[in-house]
Amino acid sequence: MDSYDNYDFDTLAVRAGQVRTGEGEHSEPIFTTSSFAFGSAAEAAARFSGEIPGNIYSRFTNPTVRTFQDRLAALEGGEACVATASGMAAILAACMATLQHGDHLICSRSVFGTTTVLFDRYLRRFGIEVDFVNLCDLDGWRVALRPNTRMLFVETPSNPLTEIVDIAALAEIAHAGGALLAVDNCFCTPALQRPLALGADLVIHSATKYLDGQGRAVGGAVVGGAEIVGKEVFGVLRTAGPTMSPFNAWIFLKGLETLSLRMRAHCANALRVAQWLAEQPQIEQVYYPGLDTHPQHMLAGSQQSGYGGILSFVVRGGQPAAWRVVDATRMISITANLGDTKTTITHPGTTTHGRLSPQQRAETGISDGLLRVAVGLESADDIIADLARGLG
Ligand SMILES: *Cc1c(COP(=O)(O)O)cnc(C)c1O
Repeated sequence: MDSYDNYDFDTLAVRAGQVRTGEGEHSEPIFTTSSFAFGSAAEAAARFSGEIPGNIYSRFTNPTVRTFQDRLAALEGGEACVATASGMAAILAACMATLQHGDHLICSRSVFGTTTVLFDRYLRRFGIEVDFVNLCDLDGWRVALRPNTRMLFVETPSNPLTEIVDIAALAEIAHAGGALLAVDNCFCTPALQRPLALGADLVIHSATKYLDGQGRAVGGAVVGGAEIVGKEVFGVLRTAGPTMSPFNAWIFLKGLETLSLRMRAHCANALRVAQWLAEQPQIEQVYYPGLDTHPQHMLAGSQQSGYGGILSFVVRGGQPAAWRVVDATRMISITANLGDTKTTITHPGTTTHGRLSPQQRAETGISDGLLRVAVGLESADDIIADLARGLG
């Protein structure tokens, strides 16, 4: 394919990154080989030194993985992408590539629980200072900046309350303080939100979620500039080795081809479920950016091209009432995973956020009656009927 600049998102999702071999295969092949052979000693030396590009060893160069990386980079509008073994490996690689002993990292309080543990427990061990702030409070971010602040890290929309931060405004704050802005774009995917175009420096993905979209494999990616991702993050991957396997890269590659179709369908289904929930007397509150009662509804409309597939809601009657809704479902899967064709339901207070103290849960708005639903691609009527069973 010629320059990516000439093509729309949906075309890039299907075509970008593919390089046909001499076999003329139409679909992308899986290169299950650990290493690659060279034509001569001189060629081997030139490849290893980087003098000529090409495949060396699948810890850091594999054609199937490269096709996935090039396609995702095109979709995010980034110069470079590095695929990783998991979403957490992507976050770790981004931190290892950009932070060192004595640096300061600021993270929003409402991020994926394991991300909090990675920063709070493990990065601190290596002499990195970590602070957590309220996602939506821009002044809070400004106040938390220090001379040694090197990275601001956010997820937007957040999990499970779907709070949204103004990425462009936060990028300005980060850059004024000499720091990078990293955005975990897991909930929106590039089909709905492109953080790099809004000023972010790094985009993080758990490919496990919507990029695959069918719950088959664990993987991740970092997307950004040629220097920071193409050289620095790539260097960490090459050396430390939390690499994506060619087979998983192929699964994610095929996932990308239907990403925007799936995201549109997730958004449409989630809006229907959210609107229905908002009308139920047993529901105290619904959190979904597509409802005009959402505090950042306008911002979501300007920053995102869709409101996403995740919503949460508070059932009157606390934990017993919330658990009744979960246990009355017959079709929806009771699991903390998200981004799947199959709708999932979880009670954050006793699962994903169960390790927090009651006070921490109150601070982050995780009430006892809160349930999170990742709306899948089944019929919206069936999803609604399944949720209705436990609300009687
Ligand atoms: C799942 C998830 C991760 C971690 O990804 P893994 O692939 O499970 O390692 C990071 N961020 C968000 C927002 C997630 O939902």
